[in-house]
Amino acid sequence: MAEHEGLEFGKSDFVLLDEVNMEHFMENLKLRFEKGRIYTFIGEVVVSVNPYREMNVYGKEAIAAYRGRELYENPPHLYAVADAAYKAMKRRAKDTCIVISGESGAGKTEASKYIMQYIAAITNPSQREEVESVKNVLLKSNCVLEAFGNAKTNRNDNSSRFGKYMDINFSFSGDPTGGHINNYLLEKSRVVHQQAGERNFHSFYQLLGGGPQSLLESFHLQGDPALYTYTKEGAGCSTATSDLSSHRAVRTALKVIGFSENEIESIYKVLAAILLLGNVGFRTDEESVLVEGEGEAVDHIAQLTSTPAEGVAKGLLFRTVATGGGDVIEKAHTEQEACFGRDAFAKALYERLFGWIIGRINTVIEVKGYNPMLHGKNTVIGVLDIYGFEIFDNNSFEQFCINYCNEKLQQLFIELILGQEQEEYQREGVAWLHIEYFNNQIIVDLVEQAHKGIISILDEACLTGGRVTDTVCLGSMSTRLAQHPHYTDRQLTPNDKTMDFQKHFRIRHYAGDVTYSVEGFLDKNKDLLFQDFKRLMFNSTNPVLTEMWPDGGLSIMEVTKRPMTAASLFKNSIVALVENLACKEPYYVRCVKPNEMKSPLLLDEARCRHQVAYLGLLENVRVRRAGFAYRQAYNRFLQRYKMTCEYTWPNHLMATDREAVEAIVTGHGFQDDVAYGNTKLFVRSPRSLFCLEQERAAL
Ligand code: ADP
Ligand code: MG
Repeated sequence: MAEHEGLEFGKSDFVLLDEVNMEHFMENLKLRFEKGRIYTFIGEVVVSVNPYREMNVYGKEAIAAYRGRELYENPPHLYAVADAAYKAMKRRAKDTCIVISGESGAGKTEASKYIMQYIAAITNPSQREEVESVKNVLLKSNCVLEAFGNAKTNRNDNSSRFGKYMDINFSFSGDPTGGHINNYLLEKSRVVHQQAGERNFHSFYQLLGGGPQSLLESFHLQGDPALYTYTKEGAGCSTATSDLSSHRAVRTALKVIGFSENEIESIYKVLAAILLLGNVGFRTDEESVLVEGEGEAVDHIAQLTSTPAEGVAKGLLFRTVATGGGDVIEKAHTEQEACFGRDAFAKALYERLFGWIIGRINTVIEVKGYNPMLHGKNTVIGVLDIYGFEIFDNNSFEQFCINYCNEKLQQLFIELILGQEQEEYQREGVAWLHIEYFNNQIIVDLVEQAHKGIISILDEACLTGGRVTDTVCLGSMSTRLAQHPHYTDRQLTPNDKTMDFQKHFRIRHYAGDVTYSVEGFLDKNKDLLFQDFKRLMFNSTNPVLTEMWPDGGLSIMEVTKRPMTAASLFKNSIVALVENLACKEPYYVRCVKPNEMKSPLLLDEARCRHQVAYLGLLENVRVRRAGFAYRQAYNRFLQRYKMTCEYTWPNHLMATDREAVEAIVTGHGFQDDVAYGNTKLFVRSPRSLFCLEQERAAL
């Protein structure tokens, strides 16, 4: 495994391309994919192409081959990056992070799992029990998060519908001591509606298809997803894994993590309540709105949530409002409002459940009893697996948020990758040439700038109350942003007959143009949930539910104050994420999806070209090459290439490592192609190194 790959597999680092352009890049990517080489470096960045088949490269031997080695000594692999991050953390006590990006289905989540497995495999050699248990919880949490946060979509059968950032804490000796998970923007609209061919979150089908009969009966459920409004659309979709076995695996994982029986039961009760809630219909009878049928479903929901049935019925049909005069009155819903309220309740129940599960996992893996005075500095490796850029046929509020998040991460990538290069040259006392690249700060500002940006304009519109519609808000956006080079209002949109220009705007993202439909933006941004539901859940006699709804204890007067909008909350969480990442040493995995058919054989060139472009991979190669493509500590370089020079092999005849390295470099005639730093050799053109590699391999 430690052998370097031969030429027939293409260039193992894009920096070695003869010429940096799209043609050469694609040629190499394709050749490697066809030869089953799914990983390629750009310096320290790993580009990964989803193989859509089992690869025999993750076993014990592979782990052993990468463990403790330098990046360039092995073929490109996730393990190389994981090891580099781990080494930096352990040897230099640096907090590091591994940022995994790419579009849906590109292989981000799989990559994050392999990275976690690698870290688990190389740590705790003495098998200390408390460390093993932390590792076990960290690994098991994936299975739970996937059950509740993933769904089958048209792009990916196991698509993560939330962003995940996981910190793993390490002791001074380099063993995991705990961790923390943050989740970002769960796609909760999926709870009440799915596109054709897609499913709701796995958890619902796992309960219906895998829950024991007795459990389902006590929950008043029948095992067929086609019977429930919220799951029937996806009921016929086939999936790779069986819901039955998954249900068991998740239950076991929950137990291993440390959820109590009552907590596990409560989780499934909430799922059941949501399914039943979806089947509640309304009718209007002489101007008053009623729950359809006998109200049995309402009783069952009340039972599952340990709340009074009258409370549930009332919450579905009325809302409590504070009048201007300070009175509190009950206002009856229209049928439409009742439907809206029901769906908002279902979505909130699920979102709170998901957040609570993660919070519960966090309390288990939280670092306890760690004393830096006693145990040395506690360091962190963060792993970020977050949704990639999305351009759909119909792009809504969710895509707007997700794409904004990608702009922020791209901004960070630019700063860190370029910033770091520059820093290293300075530290090593080496001169370098600055390279131009597109700075997307202007797009970030378009979205997030205070008072002027799109989020501010949306928030203003939400503040104005019920009168402002999506279209009115769009009008105001288009007036105020008409001059912005990355915003296109409806008048400027090309004459596309299929599009209603009253309802769309377009952002020129760094990754391409995206047209957003403004429909539903304001509702999604307000994210209104009637306080009556919150109070009802807070007052549940099941303490698990009370925990999920801590804000249900507020009085109606207190909640009349403006709550944060969804976009602002999201913005704040992403700003905090980026700040957190920015103070860590970053490692990048850039995932590419080879085709839309989930085929292991096809590399769709047009699709890949687009991804290469928006992931900024060519710029990445150029930046890497404009400075010095390779750098290596003198002793490492010597270790690897000493056999190619008579002054260093079989005996080291020079006074210092640096002089020995100079002898090797001069001996091969590329002294003009390098710079000698304080501790490292910098090599400008990869060709020099390449020729050394070949010579070494030929010996
Ligand atoms: P993303 O998280 O980027 O949306 P996933 O990691 O869920 O994508 O990958 C989608 C699917 O592609 C997986 O369910 C799996 O079938 C396949 N896949 C991804 N990476 C690999 C890999 N390294 N080896 C084998 N199959 C993979
Ligand atoms: Mg994923």
